[in-house]
Amino acid sequence: MKITRRNFLQMLGITGVAAGGISRVWAIPDKWVEKLQYGPRIETWKMSTCGQCPAGCGIRVRLIDEIPVRIFGNPIAPVNNGFICPMGEAGLELLFHPDRIHQPMRRKGKKGDSSWEPISWEEALGGISKGLQGLLQKKQADRFGFLFGDRNTLLTQFAGDFVSRMGSTNFFPWRDPGINELGLWQALGEFPPLAFDLGKTDYLLTFGTNLLEGPPSPVYFNRLYGKLKEKRPRTGLRMVHVDARMSQSGKNATEWIQIRPGSMGVLALGMTYVILRDKNFDEEFIARYSQDFRGGNEDFQTMVTRDYPPDKVSAITGVPPETLLRLAREFSSAKAPLALSGGMSDRSETPLFTQWAVASLNALSRSFSAKGLWRQPVPLPWAPSQIPSLNTRSGAFSLKPSLVPDTDLPAYWGSEELPHLRSAGELPDLNMLMIAQVDPLYLSTDQKPWKEWLSRIPQVVQFATLIDDTSPYADLVLPTTTYLEQWDLTLPVPNLPFSQLGLQQPIVSPLDGSRPIGDVLLALGTGLGVTTLLPEKSGKSYADYLVARLKPIFASGKGTPFFEAVSLNFLEELRKRGWQVYSYPAFADFWRLLQEKGGWWDPGEYPEVDWKKRKKFTFPTVTRLDALRKERALLSRGEETQKTDIPSTKRSEGPARKAEAPDSFLLAPFTILMNMTGEGASQPLLQEISGLIPRVYWEPWAEMHPERAKKLSLEDGNLIRVVSGKGSVNLRVKVVPTVSSEILGVPFGSGHKESGRYAKNIGTNPVALIDHLVDPLSGRNSWESTHVRVEKVNK
Ligand code: SF4
Repeated sequence: MKITRRNFLQMLGITGVAAGGISRVWAIPDKWVEKLQYGPRIETWKMSTCGQCPAGCGIRVRLIDEIPVRIFGNPIAPVNNGFICPMGEAGLELLFHPDRIHQPMRRKGKKGDSSWEPISWEEALGGISKGLQGLLQKKQADRFGFLFGDRNTLLTQFAGDFVSRMGSTNFFPWRDPGINELGLWQALGEFPPLAFDLGKTDYLLTFGTNLLEGPPSPVYFNRLYGKLKEKRPRTGLRMVHVDARMSQSGKNATEWIQIRPGSMGVLALGMTYVILRDKNFDEEFIARYSQDFRGGNEDFQTMVTRDYPPDKVSAITGVPPETLLRLAREFSSAKAPLALSGGMSDRSETPLFTQWAVASLNALSRSFSAKGLWRQPVPLPWAPSQIPSLNTRSGAFSLKPSLVPDTDLPAYWGSEELPHLRSAGELPDLNMLMIAQVDPLYLSTDQKPWKEWLSRIPQVVQFATLIDDTSPYADLVLPTTTYLEQWDLTLPVPNLPFSQLGLQQPIVSPLDGSRPIGDVLLALGTGLGVTTLLPEKSGKSYADYLVARLKPIFASGKGTPFFEAVSLNFLEELRKRGWQVYSYPAFADFWRLLQEKGGWWDPGEYPEVDWKKRKKFTFPTVTRLDALRKERALLSRGEETQKTDIPSTKRSEGPARKAEAPDSFLLAPFTILMNMTGEGASQPLLQEISGLIPRVYWEPWAEMHPERAKKLSLEDGNLIRVVSGKGSVNLRVKVVPTVSSEILGVPFGSGHKESGRYAKNIGTNPVALIDHLVDPLSGRNSWESTHVRVEKVNK
């Protein structure tokens, strides 16, 4: 029988057709299907870790005759227990993408032209080597920089090591802060953020935190939400979600509180006002472990009681005073209340203020004293074990945050501000910039300075699987492997209460000409005489680096490779007695088990936070907020920045000005599980199921409140033009009561200018319509501060 694609799929028993009619094995190229005609059709399975987002879910890949045909969840990976999200399932579409580049590509025209000529790896590496050599010889190593999309893997640390061993401090990780990270960083001065155990709370209050549709780990939290909801009749757990738009986390909560965009921090402080007035707060924690709560003209208590009474807070937030009073009293009367803020969904105008206010609400409401609720992440037996941040003052990559001058407050900038920091004289001129795993010209709200900055750097080298929106500003694009063709290690997920290392291992050999980033860096370093990149002299590859980093884990005797069907309690008991589930007397046995099982974890939860051993919790005060605003003002020294929007001190706490005109809305991009990083647009399966709205595929939509739609004579499905100061786009309206009447909600993730045939010029990138407005306290870019005009399009 001649094997066609259809009967081949039937034979594999995977003819299940995904939403929209695309098979889950659609991605396998025809030539591979043909190859299978005559093969013995032997089925094998390989364990690895998903690399589509930083959450580190374990995967199990099914192979027929060594050809991967489908990705499942690894049932023994503790973070996901066999479940994966649609992005995880679609990984083969990335691996087999028909537009993957197979050779290094040199740009032919001027910067900005997407026109390429293929060159050999030898020529490409020779050019890079020559450039780096020149800088080293002239003692100008600080003119080399690396912008690196942090996917929470060991590779980020290796790339950071590479930069520092070259003698440069210009390593720029591009990352989104974890849940509560900005607030706890200010309040406790520590990085990474504390972990929390959702199972221990009896009152969960999420300020916009969309645990179910984005980082840090949507699959883990979806599972946990399910379990907690099941037990709710017995435990009485309340889950309240506060947001301007009802996300999946809002839908799965017991109550959704609609709020004006950008005012969540004000609500949190309004709640603290009520708690203070009721005198129902954690006196002991405040007295022993905090500073500046009271005792001065500008202390926290004075600020809150003066500036955040319920009537004023209600007018700002749109939350009725009686709801505010009820929430405050419920929350402060709970035994283990937990308020969360942030994560990728925290793109409001005032993320730092909101998070600090939410941290203060926790401090006040006995959350930090609740048994087992807050956990202290334990570093792995190597250091540094977490991804540090950009040091604003030096531009360096550092675990230790630099402080705002004359204060005890950590400074913070996102890498998105690099061109502005350069203009402000905070970074040196670069001769060579490497870029990997991030597409700043798609993600940035301010593309012009990025284009200008990249155009001024003589040698921009990008690592990529597909030509993306940033590529036209690179001089050279090097084809890199996907997570299914390389070694790596996913690090413990921030905020989760236990440690896990997910092993990524090559499911297939690198396809046609692509190379792993780690090995390319190693080859460059070795060529330049930098021999200290590998901890062991015998090492030759990035895999050897990874193995060397695992040896201290083995030597520590802690944790275990993932294991089957052993109860956690039993395992915890074994751990206490110093026993192990598996026997692995030598490192080789441990390493074999890791490959078989897919990773390592320490089932002992992180210890509870010991407040006696920490810096005191610092409350926000007017003086501190002013100091942060001054830090942000340094951007105004940059020439280019003067032409753009300077952070406005008026926006540091409250919401944006209310749109007055009937056709004016605040544009509010939101993330969806199907494409939370934006990279899913290049994978057709995800485009087919991108919306939860029936019959909306491949195109984003605009969510509008029914009252506003009625006033504009708009109906579900009508076409509208959305106009901002940066341009306009056409979108279909989805009329839903689950958005604030002030906002126009548009999903993030499509509208790429490049990124392969399934993403290029398809859909709309709402971020491109947004004004560049930086939060005056954190230095992060806001996604919720641009007013747009809406017009009906008659067709
Ligand atoms: S949550 Fe992230 S890591 Fe887990 S399956 Fe989805 S994309 Fe992969």
